[in-house]
Amino acid sequence: MEQKIYLNGEFVPRQEAKISVYDHGLLYGDGIFEGLRTYNGRIFKLAEHMDRLHRSAKYICLDIPLSREKLINAVLKTAQLNGYRDCYVRIVVTRGEGDLGLAPEKCKSSTLFIIVDKIELFSEEFYKKGLEIITVPTQRNTPYNLDPRVKSLNYLNNILAKIEAQNAGFKEAIMLNREGFVTECTADNIFIVDNDVIKTPPTYMGALDGITRKTVIEIAKKLSIEVKEEILARYDLFNADECFLTGTGAEIMPVVKIDGRTIGDGKVGNTINKVRSAYKKLVETEGTSYL
Ligand code: PMP
Repeated sequence: MEQKIYLNGEFVPRQEAKISVYDHGLLYGDGIFEGLRTYNGRIFKLAEHMDRLHRSAKYICLDIPLSREKLINAVLKTAQLNGYRDCYVRIVVTRGEGDLGLAPEKCKSSTLFIIVDKIELFSEEFYKKGLEIITVPTQRNTPYNLDPRVKSLNYLNNILAKIEAQNAGFKEAIMLNREGFVTECTADNIFIVDNDVIKTPPTYMGALDGITRKTVIEIAKKLSIEVKEEILARYDLFNADECFLTGTGAEIMPVVKIDGRTIGDGKVGNTINKVRSAYKKLVETEGTSYL
């Protein structure tokens, strides 16, 4: 089946899905996005992604060109047209076409596109044996410059951290904030398990308000595992019993080594396995149907 992209109200083949080189999403990273996932013909946590998209738009004063209902319909239709039962959905809204100055008011209408495709962020072996990751020098943006809760098209902060990890031979980086506390990874939130308590940094430390993060917190509560949003330092990571990352794309990824320190016994722990199987069950049973 030919891949179809939704672009400003039309469904077009991938090769024809083109936007202007004057689009401020490209020229300045002036825009926002969402990454969603579908399981068995259903979009997982669609309402939550819509809410976050609208909050990001509000923060950057961006007009989303469709009503919430029409956008949901466009997302469902794009997913349906592409025909995958299990895939990834990217919604992007940019400031649109302007001139070569920054002035957003010269961009007369936002650009909206929706891509449906397959995604594999990490190969299967890492889900079984866990990742080895490092902290990197590039610090996470602060709310004083670009609030990390906005899912904007400005990912250079995270990309620099990713490059630093890759240059050192690792697949993922932990980003600290200006005070040296843990925020998140380049495209995932981070959790530890400490004496049977699941802990993750509060988003005000400098993390995206991840939808998988929230889902994991809800799952833990249902499993009667205590959860705390707590400020974490590298010390806490090194001394944790287990560590894992969460994200729509990466799902739940175990971490077994950080900055050369083995986490717990260096194996994927029991709590991770419990949370992971509950997450798997949830994604298979919940969601908005499109097929
Ligand atoms: N942090 C960052 C910086 C992200 O880009 C993402 C999304 N890939 C996440 C965390 C995880 O968020 P979610 O669970 O909503 O996908």
